[in-house]
Amino acid sequence: MALIIDGKKISQQIKDELKEKVAELKANGKTGALAVIQVGTDPASSVYVRNKKNACAYIGIGSLAYELPEETKEEELLQLIAELNTKEEVKGILVQLPLPKHICEDKIIQSISPKKDVDGFHPQSVGAMTIGQKGFVSCTPAGIIQLLKRSRIEITGKNCVVIGRSNIVGKPMALLMLRENATVTITHSKTKNLPEICKQADILIVAIGKPQFIGSAYVKEGAVVIDVGIHRDENNKLCGDVKFDEVEPIASAITPVPGGVGPMTIAMLMNNCVQSIEDK
Ligand code: NAD
Repeated sequence: MALIIDGKKISQQIKDELKEKVAELKANGKTGALAVIQVGTDPASSVYVRNKKNACAYIGIGSLAYELPEETKEEELLQLIAELNTKEEVKGILVQLPLPKHICEDKIIQSISPKKDVDGFHPQSVGAMTIGQKGFVSCTPAGIIQLLKRSRIEITGKNCVVIGRSNIVGKPMALLMLRENATVTITHSKTKNLPEICKQADILIVAIGKPQFIGSAYVKEGAVVIDVGIHRDENNKLCGDVKFDEVEPIASAITPVPGGVGPMTIAMLMNNCVQSIEDK
């Protein structure tokens, strides 16, 4: 029987720790708010934005919501970000992705001050993480490190295989595991012999974006399996990139979907916001 890594519980612990820290910072005169910008009315994005605002309220920091219409021009969004970059009370700026097609995401990400880049997507934040300097680390990979550490799973010296090389999950994930002294292999859509490579993993991190793609043929007996994927199956039920029922019996630990990696992303976003308030 595998350990089921409880992301809901661990994220709650983190938010409770942050709540205490925010109260302490407040007592020392340090406060701040997260600005959340949404362009358009994508329903999934609206849920994420609402959850972020609720998390801010829970830990006791402010949140400023900017709900802009779909037809907002790129220059208008850049103008708003420029204003928020200089606003003292705003300690974090988050632009909910994806943006409408007529707005260049890279340009928007690069316009956010690295001091307020709580999503950790700015090239300066990514560079700092790569060379081990101080900066914001992207939230989902940072959350996975916390899941492993708080579940007392040893990372040093372990073979870690990451499936996926996206800028928001796969690449930063691999870098963070390297920073934790794992021996890391990154695999992607052009990788040959994927099952054989995955079978070498002590820790397998799956961010492939394909529902229930990874079955027991990819998993070594006793491996730790982290499932980043979030999808809805044909019955509208949430599922991950991993066939949970098939993999769980051979894994030593595994994250469920929902309730695994998902809740950690917002907890780590809050962590970045608190770090930003503390640094001021
Ligand atoms: P993405 O589509 O940008 O990247 C998927 C990666 O998988 C690519 O790098 C690609 O090379 C690789 N890939 C695709 N097919 C492959 C194959 N057959 N063999 C090997 N590699 C293959 O996705 P993403 O943004 O990295 O997200 C991955 C998943 O994680 C998605 O399901 C997404 O919804 C989910 N996600 C969850 C959270 C969270 O908070 N839990 C956050 C971000 C993303």
